[in-house]
Amino acid sequence: MAFKLSRNLFNEAKRHIPGGVNSPVRAFRSVGGVPVFVASGRGSRIRSVDGKEYIDFVCSWGPLILGHSPKTVISSVKKMLDKGTSFGMPTEEEVILAREIKKAYPSIELVRLVSSGTEATMSAIRVARGWTGKRKIVKFEGCYHGHSDYLLAKAGSGALTLNLPDSAGVPEEMVKFTIVLPYNDLSAVENAIYSDNDIAGVIVEPVAGNMGVVLPEKGFLEGLRKITQEKNIVLIFDEVITGFRLARGGAQELFGIRPDMTCLGKILGGGFPIGAYGGRKDIMSCVAPEGTVYQAGTLSGNPVAVTAGIAMLRELTGALYRELEKKTKWFTEELKGIADEAGVPVTINSIASMFTIFFTKDPVRNFAEAKKSNVEMYSRFFHELLSGGVHFPPSQFEACFISRAHRDKDLERSLDVSRKAFKKLKN
Ligand SMILES: *Cc1c(COP(=O)(O)O)cnc(C)c1O
Repeated sequence: MAFKLSRNLFNEAKRHIPGGVNSPVRAFRSVGGVPVFVASGRGSRIRSVDGKEYIDFVCSWGPLILGHSPKTVISSVKKMLDKGTSFGMPTEEEVILAREIKKAYPSIELVRLVSSGTEATMSAIRVARGWTGKRKIVKFEGCYHGHSDYLLAKAGSGALTLNLPDSAGVPEEMVKFTIVLPYNDLSAVENAIYSDNDIAGVIVEPVAGNMGVVLPEKGFLEGLRKITQEKNIVLIFDEVITGFRLARGGAQELFGIRPDMTCLGKILGGGFPIGAYGGRKDIMSCVAPEGTVYQAGTLSGNPVAVTAGIAMLRELTGALYRELEKKTKWFTEELKGIADEAGVPVTINSIASMFTIFFTKDPVRNFAEAKKSNVEMYSRFFHELLSGGVHFPPSQFEACFISRAHRDKDLERSLDVSRKAFKKLKN
């Protein structure tokens, strides 16, 4: 079978895989066109099966903070592979990684490894319910916590507690106990929590990355911490994106807030499938076999993924975070300047090494404001970048990531391509 082009591969893929992809956003539906089929990645670049090279701002949707194929991770993984791929029995590597996680996240006293972010959040919610004996969960509109039934809820019109499933195949009863509130709206949280005694947990992306990057306003996270503490409700930080991204200790280190539970994934696996959930000892002691909340996994703590994670964490120094922040700040300010020059109204939200360019002149502080963006403009911008060899995420509502491997010349080149793109958008 010789499929040399992404187009041919995509056509073939669609005959075998729903939409031709193994995760929906990869299909380019919101920007149109044919997804880039990747042959290989190195540093800041990916090479497509068509033989074209792209500067990659997707970075596997977050995990690749060192860029593609970092030497240290690859060599550790190769060594592990000589010993085996999976045992389904405890290994020393799991203990090492658990200790490293705890060191970086003092709020985590016990941690359980799983194989994806979805599993981490799904399990954390089960634990919060098991520990409190309560049923309801508060989540925020535009925050994504993986695809488990309870968390696939969107805000319905009107009544606070009346929500709709965000997917077919999720019975309304499954989201009956999910309360969806606007991000950054503390008074909505107060109203919900003070009028309801059946709330087990509040789950939040401490910096939202799945409606595009949206920052918590001053006082939002602090307020969540205060109210949940008062009412003995489990505060869950979903740091699957922000963990090891904003700082080694994630958003909780950056903002100085101690959640009861934390979910991790993405960077933690060094490019391999992993997730983790952990938190206060009294709460995590509910997990089987210690306690009565069941949760298990054949490939949980997979030695290859764990080894990659350990190697990854070794590279994540304070100096690296300072360097990434500086690069990203410079890049996003330049990008904004170029858009302004061209007269294209944009708002860029950015923190540490993640950012989103929203095609709206107004501030973006929640999902409703993110949705005001001109997605048609984003699509045109995206395709201009793509044909110039720069791969942004194929949706307005995703985060761009800058890695250690993004050199100044990569960023300068990306700005040049952006300048041309904005000019075309204006015409
Ligand atoms: C990616 C993500 C998840 C889901 O992780 P998967 O590994 O894709 O299952 C959950 N929460 C957040 C905040 C994420 O960004």
